[in-house]
Amino acid sequence: MAHPHGIHHITAIASDPQQNVEFYLRTMGLRLVKTTVNFDAPDTYHLYYGNRSGDPGTIITFFPWPGTPRGRQGTGQATTIAFSVPEGSLGWWAEHLRGQGIAVDGPRFRLDGEALSFRDPDGLILELIAHEGPGAGPPWEEGPVPEQHGIRGFHSVTFTEADSDPTEETFGTHLGFTRRDEGDDRVRYEAGAGGAGTIVDILRRPGDPRGLVAAGTVHHVAWRAPDEDTEAGWRDELVGTGYGVTEIIDRQYFKSIYFREPGGVLLEIATDPPGFTRDEPLLELGRELKLPPWLEPNREQISAALPELKIPTINWPDASG
Ligand code: ZN
Repeated sequence: MAHPHGIHHITAIASDPQQNVEFYLRTMGLRLVKTTVNFDAPDTYHLYYGNRSGDPGTIITFFPWPGTPRGRQGTGQATTIAFSVPEGSLGWWAEHLRGQGIAVDGPRFRLDGEALSFRDPDGLILELIAHEGPGAGPPWEEGPVPEQHGIRGFHSVTFTEADSDPTEETFGTHLGFTRRDEGDDRVRYEAGAGGAGTIVDILRRPGDPRGLVAAGTVHHVAWRAPDEDTEAGWRDELVGTGYGVTEIIDRQYFKSIYFREPGGVLLEIATDPPGFTRDEPLLELGRELKLPPWLEPNREQISAALPELKIPTINWPDASG
């Protein structure tokens, strides 16, 4: 049976790339670990944010499409992305976010910790969960958020489903997750050893409208495979179970397969290697537009078609200004 090890990355849709980079760097204190394009639509950026080294489990990515309309949160969608922060840090975060004019809901108690909810500039629902134990990875210690409050990768992702049973079967039976907890209309499944970065919460909302994927909504959720051979084995099993799964696709920083869970959320399985230092050194991650070898011959044309984007110099550990 397939046994993903936790969240690899989560990809969402944004509108303005400059607004997106300012929010995730300055407000959330993440590091831009890769500036590239959507390999399937190279007139669009693909921006990857994470911790200092872009470890799997810390990566939120965006396709910013200027002028794209707002989507709608609803069923058949990953509706909330929750990040892990240390216990006792939500007071700092509430003040920090309100200081930037962001409406904050909470903190409120949730299964294993306290949650603060708010939205990014495109309306994407985010949570910070302060909890015991480690996060999925260390924070970006040189970023603008003090290290003791810094985001330590993902805590969990929440799926909203009209009928949660088929989705529970996908995670519990076909992907080898363990059902760990239940409460407030939510059922919690955890991958592997469990804990922050391995969690999917499934919310049962039979009366809610169907979600519409556009700006401010999640495009897909990727789960970790240790290597390509393991991924290929999982692919065969999923195909054998009846899922429509893509071939293994080279995403330059990982190898991926894609399929939908029965509720409609697009899932990906992505390999941990080779990672974001494949084509630039750790200290310079995100600084320059990177293209995979098959798009490099078209660099001039691709660059000309991309919207303007000025990456704040706080992104580099060695930057002085
Ligand atoms: Zn992906």
